[in-house]
Amino acid sequence: MKYISTRGQAPKINFSETLITGLASDGGLYLPENYPNLSTDNLEEFRNLSYSDLAFAIMKLFIDDDDIPHDDLRNIINKTYTKEIFSYTRDNQDSSDITPLTKVDNHLYLLSLSNGPTLAFKDIAMQFLGNIFEYLLHKKNKTLNILGATSGDTGSAAEYAMIGKKGVNVFMLSPRGKMSPFQTAQMYSLQDNNIFNISIDGFFDDCQDIVKGVSNDLDFKNQNQIGAVNSINWGRIIAQVVYYFKGYFSSTNASNEVIDVTVPSGNFGNICAGHISRMMGLPIRKLVVATNENNVLDEFFKTGVYKPRTSDDTYHTSSPSMDISKASNFERFIFDLIERNPDELRSLWKKIDQGESFDLSNTGYFGKVSNYGFTSSSSSHQNRLHFIKLLHKKYNLIIDTHTADGFKAAFDHFDQTEAIPMVVLETALPTKFEETVMEAIKMKPPRPDGLSNIEQLPQKSFEVDNDINQVKQFIESHS
Ligand SMILES: *Cc1c(COP(=O)(O)O)cnc(C)c1O
Repeated sequence: MKYISTRGQAPKINFSETLITGLASDGGLYLPENYPNLSTDNLEEFRNLSYSDLAFAIMKLFIDDDDIPHDDLRNIINKTYTKEIFSYTRDNQDSSDITPLTKVDNHLYLLSLSNGPTLAFKDIAMQFLGNIFEYLLHKKNKTLNILGATSGDTGSAAEYAMIGKKGVNVFMLSPRGKMSPFQTAQMYSLQDNNIFNISIDGFFDDCQDIVKGVSNDLDFKNQNQIGAVNSINWGRIIAQVVYYFKGYFSSTNASNEVIDVTVPSGNFGNICAGHISRMMGLPIRKLVVATNENNVLDEFFKTGVYKPRTSDDTYHTSSPSMDISKASNFERFIFDLIERNPDELRSLWKKIDQGESFDLSNTGYFGKVSNYGFTSSSSSHQNRLHFIKLLHKKYNLIIDTHTADGFKAAFDHFDQTEAIPMVVLETALPTKFEETVMEAIKMKPPRPDGLSNIEQLPQKSFEVDNDINQVKQFIESHS
């Protein structure tokens, strides 16, 4: 399996190279040359596999044996998806499921993705990346400086995945004062010498722009062995594909049934994995994109206009991990939508990179969006409070603010009389965003043992100006 850049001007590479490279040299994102295609019979063979067996069955379709020997891949996966690492389940569910499914109401389900060490779905992919990075670096006798931007959850997931990993430093940019106290504490309380928290005076999009800027400086990138683990990294997408299959098998009885999935979205990484699962033949009917007040994606799916906003026009909301107004992985979906024409993709993203917008409403492409299952909704703070309250009162489930955005969108698109499962992805546990959860239900959400005093631990971070050169200097002097 070879990987191509969406912008068509970078060399084709194999899986392990996409992991280390992150962004392609032409500024594009890597996608497999073709998606593997699974029949109903193939799906039935996967149906009863354990999480790690399923992960292996799926990932090996994307990874050549002469790139990463499949025996090694199997070991990496078995080491990653254990009930000990994903142990923070709600209400004593069996954590060996890794992503357990809860029935909420008739045909309505919650897929828990947030049982890993940082209590958000990003652990699922990041724990895998941590192990596979260490494996590859050891094999190639190399070191890597991971540079990333976080709105809260990516950073902690990356850092917890890289603690103690040989040959790896993490330089993580975060927007100062814009994360929840719990998120901040999770990251800044790490004292490990290979972890550098860089606090930027700006928004997540500023952090992400700096990371993109550094990654586009090929000389700097090569001299300093810069790698990425942000959600453009193909390794994360492929690890996320697995739980769409798992959620499908847990909510259906036979592989000719269809389901709908709702995904709280920001950078479009999670739902991009849903899109890829669907392209592989997983019977997903609707893919519901849930956004908060930062609704550029909802706007695109409603109007055909994709108009990213600047950080000044990005709201600071109570679902902060979705406060994103330029969705990196969206480029992957648009590439498929425009029939994988890299010249056209380049001209669209030339506009985006210049701070402009594009409009597909008058092209044949926009009409095809629904062929890909996509639909969308956005929500407000009041909606989040409402759905946190509703889920608690009616179903005795406490959900976080991002998952509440998900339920708002799911209910917009859910028709119980159709008897089609609607699976809402839980992207974080409520304790991560306890302020808003308490505002809604007047009680503290439960917190896993061992994390009760995390906000009181000493914190360490480095304040750097919102300036790409200063970030480069910091990396050079600390790596
Ligand atoms: C990262 C994150 C999201 C958004 O996911 P994307 O892959 O960026 O679309 C939603 N909810 C939570 C809790 C997150 O951490």
